[in-house]
Amino acid sequence: MPILLVFALTAACMPVPWPEPLVGGGERAAVGLTVAAVGLSALLSFAVRTWVVHTLRGSPSRKIEVMEGYARLRRLLLFVNLGLAAACVLAFGWGWYVHRAAVVPGPGPGKSLLAPFAELLVPAPYFAILLTAWTIYYDAERRIHQTTAFGPVPRPFWTRGGYVFHQLRQFALLVMLPVVLFTTQQTLARFAPELTRTDAYRIGSVAVVPVLVLFMPLLMKPLLGLKSMPAGPHRARLEALAARLHFRCADFLLWPTHGAAANALIVGLLPRVRYVVFTDRILDDLPPDELDAVLGHEVGHAKHGHIWLYAAFLGLSMTVLAALLVLLDQRLAAAGVVLPEWADGWVALPPVAVLAAYIFLVFGYLSRRCERQADVYGCRAVSCGDPNCTGHDASTVYPERARGLCPTGIRTFARALERVGQVNLMDEPAGRRSLVQLVRGFLGWLRAWQHSTMPRRVNFLLSLIDNPARERRFQRSVTLLRWTLLGGLAALLYALGEAVGWHELMQVM
Ligand SMILES: [Zn+2]
Ligand SMILES: [Zn+2]
Repeated sequence: MPILLVFALTAACMPVPWPEPLVGGGERAAVGLTVAAVGLSALLSFAVRTWVVHTLRGSPSRKIEVMEGYARLRRLLLFVNLGLAAACVLAFGWGWYVHRAAVVPGPGPGKSLLAPFAELLVPAPYFAILLTAWTIYYDAERRIHQTTAFGPVPRPFWTRGGYVFHQLRQFALLVMLPVVLFTTQQTLARFAPELTRTDAYRIGSVAVVPVLVLFMPLLMKPLLGLKSMPAGPHRARLEALAARLHFRCADFLLWPTHGAAANALIVGLLPRVRYVVFTDRILDDLPPDELDAVLGHEVGHAKHGHIWLYAAFLGLSMTVLAALLVLLDQRLAAAGVVLPEWADGWVALPPVAVLAAYIFLVFGYLSRRCERQADVYGCRAVSCGDPNCTGHDASTVYPERARGLCPTGIRTFARALERVGQVNLMDEPAGRRSLVQLVRGFLGWLRAWQHSTMPRRVNFLLSLIDNPARERRFQRSVTLLRWTLLGGLAALLYALGEAVGWHELMQVM
């Protein structure tokens, strides 16, 4: 989801002549309608929150049912909120109002320029909606957290401020960082146009992306409040497995979420700036062998070079898109086509939409394949050398570098996957295809576009027990996909560079 949100916010920050309010008219209508939209979103969040709090107060035994309903409603509201924010900019005149009101005197008499970073005010209704929603959802989250029919007393929950801050810092790192970089570039182009035409600036602005990608992990630690995992049984076990897999990283990190998320992730391209991160909940809830399987999955991403692959794929794709735009521009100019005046600012939007759709479809597909490859590596990480084994015990010997693949290893990994899915409520109930279920299924699929759905992942892995040849076929198909994509993009870029001229291409980067 974050990547698509980045595109939506970037589009809002483009220098587009946003329309006046479609109803009412004037600045007061723009502000009034926008405030009303934010208020409507807050009301909806409040209704969801109140339903959760009241139901659980009356009948704590309905916790699972309430959690599922709550997760579904929140997912639905995510799209409603995006729609409301889009309506503010496109129909209620908010974008038009910002471009009119947030201006500073420009070069020449009577001229004005949009104030530095004022484009960030265009998506401001969405930021307001998010902040209110987090503040309101807090009560529901806390109630869910504290409701136990039996079992141990839960960990203390966040304070409201702490909870909102926890959400805010994730949003800042994953979504706002690229958007702010983009607005910085826009601001510089407005206020120091001669600077942005120099070669040094161009090289710098292209180089900032790989530098950021490389050092992002160092930034993540303070931004998300990650801590080095304390010495103890968890850490010792993870280190032992990493050694057996011949995997190196700078540190294992702990993400304190007050039990809100069961998750693990790997960040960083190089061992020295590479971290594997585990949330508190996943360490608490998973038995040791399943935790090994989860680390195996993350190590699999590194061993198969997925992080490099993603960086190369995204970098090449964006360069190809830029070259295509130059080509289109040159051809239109050669044909003497002049865009009508109204289209002037709007032409910036279609490329963003095309790139977003391309990433969603092509990158989504690539990412799902890579997740599956990491899943297989995760199975291997907890497999013994006997492809027909019936179980593991203390005397089981595991081969180095995850060379084995056995039924017990596959089942261990599948169990871990299912447990994480249960904790995070990621399962979509399968059943009759009513309209509601279709919508639900669609929302679930949208959310799973990078990872695929849990049952699919598990079914594939379990099928490998009876059909080991399928694994080899699968590995070959991923290798083929990887080189076809990269090779195809590189060839396309070369052809485009020859067609438009390499110097012209450099100019637009
Ligand atoms: Zn993964
Ligand atoms: Zn085994």
